[in-house]
Amino acid sequence: PAPVRDPVLDVERIRRHFDFPATGRVVTNNAASTQPPRELLELYGSLTPSYENVHRGQSTASQRTTQLFEESYDTIASWLNAPSRRSIACYRNTTEAINAVLYSLLTEFRDGDNVVTTLMEHNSDFVPWYALSREILPRFGRRVQCRVARFDHRTGALDLDHLASLVDERTKLVCVTGASNFLGTKPPLDVVRAIADGSGYLQPSGERRSLLLVDGAQLVPSSSVDVQALDVDYLAFSFHKVLAPFGVGVLYAKEHLLEQSLPFLYGGDMIAEGQVAPDLVQYNCLPWKYAAGTPNILGTIVSAQALRLVLDLVDGASHWFGTAGPLPRAVVESAMARIGQHTRAMTDRAHAGLQEIPGLTVYGPALGEPRSPLLAFTLAGMDPMAIAAGLNRLGIESRAGCHCATLAHRELGLTPPASCRLSFALYTSADDVDAALGALRRVAGARRPQPVGQR
Ligand code: PMP
Repeated sequence: PAPVRDPVLDVERIRRHFDFPATGRVVTNNAASTQPPRELLELYGSLTPSYENVHRGQSTASQRTTQLFEESYDTIASWLNAPSRRSIACYRNTTEAINAVLYSLLTEFRDGDNVVTTLMEHNSDFVPWYALSREILPRFGRRVQCRVARFDHRTGALDLDHLASLVDERTKLVCVTGASNFLGTKPPLDVVRAIADGSGYLQPSGERRSLLLVDGAQLVPSSSVDVQALDVDYLAFSFHKVLAPFGVGVLYAKEHLLEQSLPFLYGGDMIAEGQVAPDLVQYNCLPWKYAAGTPNILGTIVSAQALRLVLDLVDGASHWFGTAGPLPRAVVESAMARIGQHTRAMTDRAHAGLQEIPGLTVYGPALGEPRSPLLAFTLAGMDPMAIAAGLNRLGIESRAGCHCATLAHRELGLTPPASCRLSFALYTSADDVDAALGALRRVAGARRPQPVGQR
């Protein structure tokens, strides 16, 4: 068949910014990590003329690097529509960002409080709350429950009634994924916010309001996220899923929470200049209170530039990459809408093809229903690991396992708790999807017939 030209994004042009297409790789494992455009890898090298630590030198080079580093926070803040860089803390990844929230709330939990999370969370948004309730706080003599909301097994939708029944006046924190990395479902965050508000923690003022943490690891790469409109208290994501190289994750938090709470790490640069005495330490202003020790300077600069480059890739222009400052909201929203539309079209194309394969079950929303750009499935009579290995032999990159969404796999009764997953990004072409489907048909066709009852 003739190659399909994409109406929403010029994928052919976008792919020219990456090395992987020339190697023949069919990268359909983008929910794990995306590929870096060449410009971003080259950017590391181009920073050497001013290679220096930040906030730790008076040289022109140090001042230049400090400026680039600090401006990166402005870019990140504007990407999320955070009011300013003061709401942004950079860590290594989503996992570390969520653990930083755990740490900052340690002193806040009273005996009898609870945290509510869901069965569709990635382990990085479940295990910390499990550990808090079962291991950490008991050692301080405090009993805090970790409650877990169900999801609909057929559609993958978060069971909002169940969630609401778990939230009460002792719910300090509600932790929900913005998009499941296994089911692909996106819980309605406005409804979750309303639940956390309506029936949540009884504040001393008489107001009912629980803190809301959103795991944005799969949400931020494929949609525009406005933390103010969503009114989330915390949102975490990882840059390695948004075209940037590995190493930097973000925690957005409301400024007053960052002002009040305890930093995750203590040491140099997180204290106000000169304000350390044996009996008095004063912390630095935001966001540097949350930047103890030498940070991942180049990684942060390159990561912020990844966001700027995304805008240029979508537009086919060179307006944003290499510049600094906050990004206009309308530009971010329009670019992310186009990425969302494109990845949606690729996902639907793949979903339709998967449904044609006998014995194949796709988890989560039905074809045509909203989902993030990933499809997890099993094939009757075949171990998901064997599917992924078969696909790999045919040049198709996928992921098999539980994708760290162990609770949801167990909940669906999958034994072993595993599925195979294809996931898409802005550079995914219809040819990629068709190649993956073709390979999967071959892998499925090579299955040994199963005895009746195991299909
Ligand atoms: N949450 C979700 C929904 C994810 O998909 C991932 C990455 N698979 C994470 C959290 C963890 O991200 P990281 O490994 O970068 O900490």
